[in-house]
Amino acid sequence: MPELPEVEIIVRRIREVFLDSVVSDVVLPSKRGSFSMDQMRQRLIGQRLEDVLRRGKAIVLKIGQGFLIIHLRLNGQVCIVHNLPRHCIFGVLFEDKEYSLYVCDFRGLAQIKWVEDLDEDEFINGLGPDALYDELAFDYFYDRIKRNRGSIKTLLMDQRFISGIGNIYAVEALFRAGISPHRPASSLSRDEAKRLHKAVKEVISLAVKRAAVPEKYFKDDSRRPAKRASWEFFVYGRDGQECRVCGGKIKKTKIAGRGTYFCPNCQV
Ligand SMILES: [Zn+2]
Repeated sequence: MPELPEVEIIVRRIREVFLDSVVSDVVLPSKRGSFSMDQMRQRLIGQRLEDVLRRGKAIVLKIGQGFLIIHLRLNGQVCIVHNLPRHCIFGVLFEDKEYSLYVCDFRGLAQIKWVEDLDEDEFINGLGPDALYDELAFDYFYDRIKRNRGSIKTLLMDQRFISGIGNIYAVEALFRAGISPHRPASSLSRDEAKRLHKAVKEVISLAVKRAAVPEKYFKDDSRRPAKRASWEFFVYGRDGQECRVCGGKIKKTKIAGRGTYFCPNCQV
C-alpha cells in the first residue's frame, strides 16, 4: 500500500504535469462509488485543475466546484500515460496535454469520491496531524501514547493519531527509535516517546527526499524513469537477513494481522 512518501511524490508530479489544465473528458469504465458517468462529466469537463493536495494517504484534486478524493488503498496505481491503461477505474483527460491521468486497480478496491467541501468528508475530517506537513507537537504525541493500551505499532498506523504512516514506515520508525513493535503504547517512557517522535519525522522526510515510487503504484510516461530508490530499509521486508546495525537476524511476526519486522537485539 502506498504510504505518505509515495503519495506525496505522486501528488507533486500530478501538480507539475497537470496543474491549471482544463478537463476535456472523463473516463469511467464501470460505475463506481456514488456517482454516474453523466454526473462526473458534468462536474469536471471544462473545469480547471486548481490544486493537487494530499490528505494522509489520499490524493485530492480540486477541480471546479469540488474535490475528487482518490484513495489508492492496497493495489491502486496512478498512471500518467498516453493511452487507456489496463484495469483503469477512472481517468481524466486534459486539453492540450499529451498525457492523461488515470487511476488503475486490478482488484478494483481503489476509491474515487466527489465532495463539494473537503471538511464535510468524514475520513478527511478525522485525520490526525500530517506526519510531513504538520509540526506534530510532542505533548500531543506523548499524551496519546500514554492513553493507549494497544501496541505502539498499531497506534502509529492509526490515521486519527498521525496521518500518513502505514506498515512500512511504522516498523522503520520503531527500529530507529529502538522500540519493540510489541510494546503497549502506554508502557513507553518519556525518553522513548521522544526518540520515536524524532524517528517518525525523520523516516518520513527521508523517504520523501529519496524514494522513487515503485511502478506498481505509479507509472509516469511523461518523463524518463526515475533513478532507483537509494532508500534502504532497516527492517521492512528483511526477515532472516542481517541487521544493518548489530548483525543479528531480523525477525518477522504479525501484529493486528499485519506483517511486522523488527530486530530483537536493537529493539526492546
Ligand atoms: Zn539489530
